[in-house]
Amino acid sequence: MRIILMGPPGAGKGTQAKRLVDKFGMAHLSSGDIFRAEKAGGSALGQKLAEYMNAGQLVPDEIVVEIMAKAITSCDSPAGLLLDGFPRTVAQAEALDAQLDQAGKSLDGVVVITADEDEIVERITGRRSCSDCGKVYHVKYLRPQNDNLCDKCNVQLVQRADDTEGVIRQRLAAYNLQTEPVIAYYRGRPNVQTLFVNGTQPPDNVTADLVQGLEQLKTEM
Ligand code: ADP
Ligand code: AMP
Repeated sequence: MRIILMGPPGAGKGTQAKRLVDKFGMAHLSSGDIFRAEKAGGSALGQKLAEYMNAGQLVPDEIVVEIMAKAITSCDSPAGLLLDGFPRTVAQAEALDAQLDQAGKSLDGVVVITADEDEIVERITGRRSCSDCGKVYHVKYLRPQNDNLCDKCNVQLVQRADDTEGVIRQRLAAYNLQTEPVIAYYRGRPNVQTLFVNGTQPPDNVTADLVQGLEQLKTEM
């Protein structure tokens, strides 16, 4: 299965992606995680990415496409691929199409996790993640067993630089204006299923809906 996981920031893409990968075994590529790793490394490219990310703006398409094309080439395997956070503009979707076409590969599904704006702001301001393994928690909804420590790595949880209320509003505006049209771009395309899952349910219910949808998609492939 080659799947794109979409939805506004804070909808639960990263949380659910990890669960889907455990269940279905595909590779998980998160553009945000890749960019944060580059940023943390302090390279010139990382500093450029940070300018956009810290302001809640999308990184320009040509930079994103170059980084993601390499990442996809190096990890697309027979087990499949779960793309999380990419493509985020119609131009990125066109570039992905061209890359897959050239490789004789295709996309199987677009899965959209939905969530409303108030919920998103609460989720993002309460998000904490492990600086070691990247596991994502929430101060209220998905708490670690020990206060502010990762259950797996036992290291301090951190808050993302762009997870402030002001920046979230900017990221939401970018989603509505630039990313939502990507759903319409794929919708109705033969051989690409579009699946909407209600993200404003408890995490296990969201996972159950996603698993059911993907099992169904697999039988129709
Ligand atoms: P995204 O990758 O879409 O930006 P995350 O998976 O990082 O979103 O989730 C954003 C925040 O919301 C995290 O703190 C996460 O723990 C929390 N979260 C995720 N799914 C749910 C849910 N179904 N209910 C409540 N909180 C959730
Ligand atoms: P995320 O981790 O998906 O919330 O992404 C964090 C930030 O990284 C976004 O607000 C953007 O600045 C940048 N980013 C991640 N993926 C993309 C993309 N596909 N296109 C443009 N910018 C991106």
